Amino acid sequence: MNRLFTVCSRYCWRQSLPFDPKLKFSSKTHVVCFYSTQRQRQLSHASILHKLKHTKPLHQVHAQILVSNLADNVFLCNRLMNAYASCKQFDKAQIIFSGISKKNLVSWTILLSGLTKNGLLLEAVEAFYDMMVQEIRPNEITIATVLPAFGKLGVAQMGKSVHCYWIRHNFGDNVFVETGLVDMYSKFGFLKNARNVFDKMRVRNVVSWNTIISGYSENGFGDEALWVFNEMRRKGFSGDVFTFMSLISLGDCGVGNGVHGLIVKAGYENDQLVKTALMELYINCDFVDDACRIFKEIHKKDLVVWTLMLRGFSKSGDWRKTIDHFNEMIGEDEITLDSISLTTIFSGCSSSGALQQGRRVHALVVKTGFQDDIFVGSSIMDMYANCGSLIDAETYFESMGKKDVVCWNALISGYGMFGCGNKSVELFLNMKCLGISPDDSTLVSVLCACSHAGLVDCGLEIFERMSESWNMIPNSKHYACVVDLLGRGGRLNEAYSLVKRMPHQPGPEVYCSLLAACRAHRNFEMGDEISREIIQLRPKDVGYYVLASNVYALAGNWDCARTSRILLKSNDLRKNPGFSSIEVNGEMFTFMASQTCHPHYSEIKEFLKDLIFKIEAMGYQFDLNSVFSDVSDDVKKDILFHHSEKLAIAFGLMRTTTGSIIRITKNLRICDDCHLASKFISKAYGRVLAIKDANRFHIFRDGVCSCGDWW
Ligand SMILES: [Zn+2]
Ligand SMILES: [Zn+2]
Repeated sequence: MNRLFTVCSRYCWRQSLPFDPKLKFSSKTHVVCFYSTQRQRQLSHASILHKLKHTKPLHQVHAQILVSNLADNVFLCNRLMNAYASCKQFDKAQIIFSGISKKNLVSWTILLSGLTKNGLLLEAVEAFYDMMVQEIRPNEITIATVLPAFGKLGVAQMGKSVHCYWIRHNFGDNVFVETGLVDMYSKFGFLKNARNVFDKMRVRNVVSWNTIISGYSENGFGDEALWVFNEMRRKGFSGDVFTFMSLISLGDCGVGNGVHGLIVKAGYENDQLVKTALMELYINCDFVDDACRIFKEIHKKDLVVWTLMLRGFSKSGDWRKTIDHFNEMIGEDEITLDSISLTTIFSGCSSSGALQQGRRVHALVVKTGFQDDIFVGSSIMDMYANCGSLIDAETYFESMGKKDVVCWNALISGYGMFGCGNKSVELFLNMKCLGISPDDSTLVSVLCACSHAGLVDCGLEIFERMSESWNMIPNSKHYACVVDLLGRGGRLNEAYSLVKRMPHQPGPEVYCSLLAACRAHRNFEMGDEISREIIQLRPKDVGYYVLASNVYALAGNWDCARTSRILLKSNDLRKNPGFSSIEVNGEMFTFMASQTCHPHYSEIKEFLKDLIFKIEAMGYQFDLNSVFSDVSDDVKKDILFHHSEKLAIAFGLMRTTTGSIIRITKNLRICDDCHLASKFISKAYGRVLAIKDANRFHIFRDGVCSCGDWW
């Protein structure tokens, strides 16, 4: 970056030098007159060079040029450079360039084009600067060649100077340069400038339209992108693959559906790139079935589409499909797994708690030689930590040769989820001793760990030292952790005043922590105040309505609770359904609350009835406050009876061997009643229950939970 800064500042200083119009070079090459024989040789070499596409004959011609004493001929050298560049031997072209004693504009332009095409952007900008210093003035081809480098490097000042140069010298209309300028300004994020250039263009081609559309799309201006697209069609351009790709990348499913229709109409529906982009869009919008339909239509499926579909299934929580897809994928002859596909399957195992499957994939990693890959390694650790096998995570961490910050984060957060706050803090401080810089996620993990373990003072100290010791400005997630930390410690007023003092707009997670604390400490007055504030602030956020309604319900304020539920419905917002999953013999079973249509429902129900009877005899009573609806006590009991955690626990007790740990993953926070019941169950059946909820692990053993009822 320093190099870039130096070039930019030097160039901007150069700008103020007076410009001598006589120095302007035409785009035509200035050819020096030679004696006739030499000229003939030169022309024959030049014409051969023009046609050469392979290196061997190219080397021969190059040698002949050297023998004929023509090595100083700029015209031939330019041709040679061009030939080497098109044979993908750009380093040779660079050597020839540096040997030319009198470089002309064509030499520089070939060099610049090669540098930008080979991604040597900084070198291109430097070369452009050197060219200007030598007072060789660029023409439209040179400018069009170098503009992408300015855009990609974000050197706005230099880019603007070249634009000014273009205007000052009245080059006239040139669709390539103008399109290049639109692209450059879009890359800088200067959409107004981009649009200005675009609007003034007298001639536009599909590329120009695509450039402005993708500029808007990449900068998040969806409406503008669509407006220009419609304008484009009105002017008689139908759009090509790139137009559609830009519109798909807006990430709007409604737009995507419309574009899908146009793609079919325009005959691009079999284009692999378009199909992949559409699949990605549907997966991001949670329309996995639509993505799957496209996936099936693709004849020659590559690793990218297989991995994309894997992510789709895993994201939708459909574990059976995820694992079937993965098995099918590894059975394909042409598919060789890479670190992305392996990371995707591990993250699927992580989120559903599929430990046995995770172990199998780990074995596959060892077999395929990916164990030294740092990305795969951190996802293995993450899998073990999230599947509740902290010992495996620790062992793997110790065995890793190279560890990046992601690996450290995985273990720090793993300790946090298990309530081992001290270990988490210790590991975090170890990082500092070893000179590894933590990132945002590390701090979130360690603050969360302090919160889960009730280490209020330690957490506050880390938070306060964030900017001074780790050079980090706390973001909304860090604040949410600290609010949680204070809230759990009952220091609600401090938490609320911290939120009020936040230098930026608090994110949803901050308010969620605050409301959860109000709920836990039964501070309904503050809960009410915050609820009103945030529903006004974020009318479309479903989580708030649910939380607010739960706070009201707990306070017995059924009218308000009902109002927020109605608001929720009228805003067409739906609460995420809660589900719990359990892995039995490598197979995943998922239970939704009140899911009476589950294939194992009747036997589970009978088992669960006996179970409740057994724990009631030990003193358990349904915690009716855990139901946030104004219904009779019997209905409340029935709702609690059918909570997904209880169904999963009953199934686990029925199907797993005595003495083994019952591991359950719940997508939302475990409710008070299921938490209480789990304690009794662990004692009654002499089993360890490891339940991972949205926040942490609860390890129930002999009637006690590892969270110490602090979650
Ligand atoms: Zn529950
Ligand atoms: Zn617990």
